[in-house]
Amino acid sequence: MSLRLYDTAARAVRDFTPLRAGRASVYVCGLTVQGPPHIGHVRSALVFDVMRRWLTAGGLEVTYVRNVTDIDDKILAKAAAAGVPWWAWAYEHERAVTRAYDVLGILPPTYEPRATGHVTDMVTLVERLVERGHAYAIGGDVYFDVRSFPGYGTLTGQRLDDLQPAADTDSDDRKRDPRDFALWKAHKDGEPATAAWPTPWGPGRPGWPLECSAMAGRYLGPEFDIHGGGLDLRFPHHENEQAQSRAAGDGFARYWLHNGWVTLGGEKMSKSLGNTALVDEVVEQVRPVELRYYLVAPHYRSTVEFTAGALEEAGVAYRRLESFVRRAAERVGSGCAAGGAAAGTAVLDPAFVAALDDDLRTSAAVAVVHDTVREGNSALADGDDARVADLLGSVRAMLGVLGLDPLDPQWASGGDDQRLTSVTDGLVALALEQRAAARARKDYASADAIRNQLGALGVQVEDTSQGTRWELT
Ligand SMILES: [Zn+2]
Repeated sequence: MSLRLYDTAARAVRDFTPLRAGRASVYVCGLTVQGPPHIGHVRSALVFDVMRRWLTAGGLEVTYVRNVTDIDDKILAKAAAAGVPWWAWAYEHERAVTRAYDVLGILPPTYEPRATGHVTDMVTLVERLVERGHAYAIGGDVYFDVRSFPGYGTLTGQRLDDLQPAADTDSDDRKRDPRDFALWKAHKDGEPATAAWPTPWGPGRPGWPLECSAMAGRYLGPEFDIHGGGLDLRFPHHENEQAQSRAAGDGFARYWLHNGWVTLGGEKMSKSLGNTALVDEVVEQVRPVELRYYLVAPHYRSTVEFTAGALEEAGVAYRRLESFVRRAAERVGSGCAAGGAAAGTAVLDPAFVAALDDDLRTSAAVAVVHDTVREGNSALADGDDARVADLLGSVRAMLGVLGLDPLDPQWASGGDDQRLTSVTDGLVALALEQRAAARARKDYASADAIRNQLGALGVQVEDTSQGTRWELT
């Protein structure tokens, strides 16, 4: 495998060599389930879904963990404000997040641990840190002693003395260093009793970075290949994760990947700024597959400025690809056609492979798909069915890696929709037969009337040398 990835910790592109031959282990920080997801939230899951598919396409057996942070200050605060139990709030939004992932075709992770299900692992990790002299308890809180660990700051290339005090605690005066961050937070008056677990230091709840360190260790072992997350998680979240795990003696992540932000009006999309576009709202404006294309096509480290115009352009670009796939499949079939290869077995275009191997450069990979579709459209126009079948196989294989194959069951509607589709197909075919009959008897007025009525219903009819085609506009 010749995959190269930009490792944030090394601040360089590095050859990807998995820890265990033939396998890849990946941990991606999931969402804190505190509200309905906006498209900035899901970009991370989407870009790492593509990375996972690419690792799999490269022959690796991928173990992919994405957690659910279901206990957190924000969840407690929002649930209290709404007057509902914190766990009810968390479950409701976890379901909303899962729906958003599903609707965008993000493959379910191998494991999707909830933080609240792994408190024992977290307490064990804190105990290891206390034993090794990297953590200390004060009044039920347990802090990580940043000065005890020389590697603190290396992930983000910061010197300890330049860092601001940790912002995750109110009172600094009891800490050994103001930069010490909370591993464990003592239960406070006024917090729900259900949001506290017993520990040797008294009842309390975990700090956020501790959750990820413990869950990564639980499912991937002390050392694993890739840790992913949004750019904003680098510091302090990931710096703290790495410090905790390494100070405890674990190798932890070997590569760190961070995706860029989605901005709206030039600012990072964020609930607190009020500049968000919820996934539920956006998929009312465009089809989910078009939203996926919009978020997957730019390189994962670039910033995506969300605008209605750009979203619409992405939809148009995707429909160009889709139109070829549907027309070609209609002509030569979607499986193993004459001289062609099925999507699953087609050899990937070397330019596409090179693009994704170059730090997952999806922008270049998508350009290769568009080039291939242009060739495919020419082959369709030439009536070269063997060539059409080849190019269809190639396009579907490439789009499959990106999770964008229009013929994938994810995007083909099922059940009633499929029945409606077949009825529509039949009715349009009937109308076109009548139109052909009208033309055959030189009744052009009737033929045009049928065409116009279909057009008014959104069925665009096109006469080609290969016969009459139609598509929904
Ligand atoms: Zn995390």
